[in-house]
Amino acid sequence: MESASSRKRKQADIRIQKRSDEYTVGWICAICTEYTAAQAALDEEHERPDDMAPGDHNDYTVGRMGKHNVVISVLPDGEYGTDSAALVASNMLHSFANIKVGLMVGVGGGAPSEKRDIRLGDIVVSASREGHSGILQYDFGKMVQGEPFQLTRVLNQSPRILRAAVNGLESQYQRKGYDQLRRIIDDILQSNPKLQRKFGRPDVTSDRLYRSEIIHPTDGINTPDCSVSCGDDPSKLTTRPRRVADESSPVVHYGLIASANTLMKDAVLRDKLALEKNILCFEMEAAGLMNQFPCLVVRGICDYSDSHKNKQWQGYAAIAAAAYAKDILHRIPLKDIGTLQRVIREEKAQIPSDEQKQELLKSLKFDQHKDRHDNIKAAHPDTCKWLQESVEYLDWLNPDKIRDHHGFLWIKGKPGAGKSTIMKSAPLTARKDMRKRIIISFFFNARGDSLEKSTIGMYRSLLLQLLQHIPALQDKLDLSDFIKNHDTDYRWHIASH
Ligand SMILES: [Zn+2]
Repeated sequence: MESASSRKRKQADIRIQKRSDEYTVGWICAICTEYTAAQAALDEEHERPDDMAPGDHNDYTVGRMGKHNVVISVLPDGEYGTDSAALVASNMLHSFANIKVGLMVGVGGGAPSEKRDIRLGDIVVSASREGHSGILQYDFGKMVQGEPFQLTRVLNQSPRILRAAVNGLESQYQRKGYDQLRRIIDDILQSNPKLQRKFGRPDVTSDRLYRSEIIHPTDGINTPDCSVSCGDDPSKLTTRPRRVADESSPVVHYGLIASANTLMKDAVLRDKLALEKNILCFEMEAAGLMNQFPCLVVRGICDYSDSHKNKQWQGYAAIAAAAYAKDILHRIPLKDIGTLQRVIREEKAQIPSDEQKQELLKSLKFDQHKDRHDNIKAAHPDTCKWLQESVEYLDWLNPDKIRDHHGFLWIKGKPGAGKSTIMKSAPLTARKDMRKRIIISFFFNARGDSLEKSTIGMYRSLLLQLLQHIPALQDKLDLSDFIKNHDTDYRWHIASH
């Protein structure tokens, strides 16, 4: 039966419509289950504002949670991963210019270890550890067999106000236990009775952690659930003691969340990363957000990032994460803090240090970046005469003719006819003709190393020359995506991205 308070709430829903700049909390979900959980956690739902940015195709639900006006959005159906999350965040900041607090809330795969007793339905909150920001993008790294995983990308950490609230809430949980969190979960489920079956807490017997070497059998598309195909054979399961005190409550864990564009379904790799980097959870979106939507990442654990199939916990894990996010919002005062847009602008406005610039230039350089150019014989001045007198060449030098040639001068000829020799000398002649212009060049070497014959190599070489010729450009670099690593090849995944 519908309660009086929920009826009252629904009546109120229809009336309230606010301006987009009255919303100060941005909440992003990846999948529909998480979106439902987030909506269910609202204390009051509003009409969508009319003044949103044109061209924003995000779906939004807006409302109030505690004292905060919250805008919630979700990735489009069928889209996953860091890039899609980044686009949703960027649209949201465009339409809701006054967002001050960012949250990424949803489900993730746990990485239980001897050090961390993570169970299904628990919550992992991103927190900086050992110099990492809280989110570790593990597809921007090197995984060499027998060597520790090397990280190659630096992400920003969560904003200060959120990190402070996380600590405040943690100490409250330490003193009083998880009663308040459990009350929020119960309240969400009670006020949304339709969700109880799919989002209620499953029985603890369905929480099975298989030993890492046990792989879920795959036989076609309709692989049965673990309860059927893997079973409860103790020899296959990792034995864990029952949680006595708080069996029906999530436990909150704080630490590193690993993020990548592919789903982690490999228990052996999971264990390796958990051991080497203290990873607690795997997911697919957060890395796309941290540098352009500084946020706290909250993940309810719905599986163990292995090959096994267990959908039972997804709903509850989503509710648990939403409840934690709601609890965090209770601790954040409504004071005047900077908007996320301002935070991002300030981060970007920072001029990189000389050391960072040198690092970046060094990362662009590769051994043979001008080998091919240097090995081409210089042409006798007369050899290029016909070229210098040709209409095509004179047009190419003439800025008024740019619309005709779009900056391209094509020279074609048989192999060995001397095209390279001419092109090496042509820019030199051009330099005399166009005194204040900067000439940069790249010669592909079909017989050279991969960078000598790839467009990546070309871009690296051209970019390096530009930055060297115009040092002022180095101050304009946005190094927020610059990755620290001694292997140059990996850094330039960013450039190709
Ligand atoms: Zn299984």
